[in-house]
Amino acid sequence: MSAQLYLSDRHRAIAEATRAFAEKEIRPIAARLDENEEYPDALYKTMCALGMMGVSVPEPLGGAGADVLSYALVMEELSRGYSSVADQCGLIELVGTLLAEHGTPEQQDRYLRPLLKGERRCAYAITEAEAGSDVSGIRTTAEPRSGGGWRLDGGKLWIHNAPVADFAVVLARTDKEAGRRGMSIFLVDRDTPGYSIGRHERKMGQRASQVGALHFDAVHLGPDAMLGPQGRGFHMMMGVLDKGRVGIAALAVGILEAALEASVAYARQRRQFGKPIAGFQAVQWLIADMAKDTHAARLMVHAAAARMDAGERASLECSMAKCFASDAAVLHTANAVQVHGGSGYIRGIEVERLMRDAKITQIYEGTNQIQRMIMARHLLGEAAG
Ligand SMILES: Cc1cc2nc3c(=O)[nH]c(=O)nc-3n(C[C@H](O)[C@H](O)[C@H](O)COP(=O)(O)OP(=O)(O)OC[C@H]3O[C@@H](n4cnc5c(N)ncnc54)[C@H](O)[C@@H]3O)c2cc1C
Repeated sequence: MSAQLYLSDRHRAIAEATRAFAEKEIRPIAARLDENEEYPDALYKTMCALGMMGVSVPEPLGGAGADVLSYALVMEELSRGYSSVADQCGLIELVGTLLAEHGTPEQQDRYLRPLLKGERRCAYAITEAEAGSDVSGIRTTAEPRSGGGWRLDGGKLWIHNAPVADFAVVLARTDKEAGRRGMSIFLVDRDTPGYSIGRHERKMGQRASQVGALHFDAVHLGPDAMLGPQGRGFHMMMGVLDKGRVGIAALAVGILEAALEASVAYARQRRQFGKPIAGFQAVQWLIADMAKDTHAARLMVHAAAARMDAGERASLECSMAKCFASDAAVLHTANAVQVHGGSGYIRGIEVERLMRDAKITQIYEGTNQIQRMIMARHLLGEAAG
């Protein structure tokens, strides 16, 4: 990352330490993790010990107690190493934030502290076959049981960490008539009878991230399994989305930065027609646009994070940053492959992986069509419909 004058010494130190870690421990193994679809458990445990998971979770609860800008810096630098690793950090940040803000002390002892120590792995389960962008369409239900507690039935799809998670944070319908006010969140342990893990998906990119389905067949839960108040689940999940989106935007900036560095290095070294391809204007402009959009995306991420840290609403800025950075990542990783010519299309070359890794950033944490809808509603109000 080029040094940003406005960053405090602490923010710079966080970015530099994370960059050094990613350069040494993550980037060299990224191709192997991608090729083998490998979940790097030991690496995540080390990152937990170093305070890279739960960056903005308060210290007394086991987090690093830093701000959202710090979280964004960590996400960018991890992603420059390998975006699947940053994605794990983002998942833990979201689940950690929910547990820190809404968990009882018992829930925090049982789930949050072990999560941040790397002793337990989590999943964040909203999406279903019929409910993707439209979360209000979920069909998983939690019915009250006579004598207390709940019976959970349903299924979730494309859930990050589903194949490995020790517990899942599940959005379910507790009142079929109450629309968005009829959803609640449950903490569901993997070893509860009726909890089963569905198909492990094979993906285009971010292949070290384990993604799959979860099924709940008459899962009996105690009253203490509910996270936060009944009927507030939808709003609680949406409440952490700004942090989620600024995190994915930062992850996209990390992919952009890696693509830019690789393209600059290759353009200097590769010779055709008797000179480095860096000497051709067509190549120069691809790289200049890559650098311009990487810089703009980074500034948008920092501005959105700083607004959140000031305690202001930043939904518009977070949607803009996520949409811009992920669109830029998809465009410029394809251009990075172009700069590399045929070698950019070969497995094992970094930009080939970056191009595959970038695509999902336009889809998860709300597709970019949904981000544009959010922006339009902010700008146009009720006239947007
Ligand atoms: C690798 C991966 C990891 C994921 N991890 C998780 C996870 O951990 N937890 C989780 O809960 N989910 C997760 N998801 C699911 C992800 O959040 C959804 O895929 C995403 O929200 C989009 O939903 P959908 O795929 O059903 O697409 P759809 O909602 O069916 O959308 C299909 C297309 O229609 C467009 N569209 C939909 N509605 C509108 C509209 N109103 N206006 C304009 N265009 C619209 C979309 O933008 C998209 O282009 C993951 C998905 C993947 C692939």
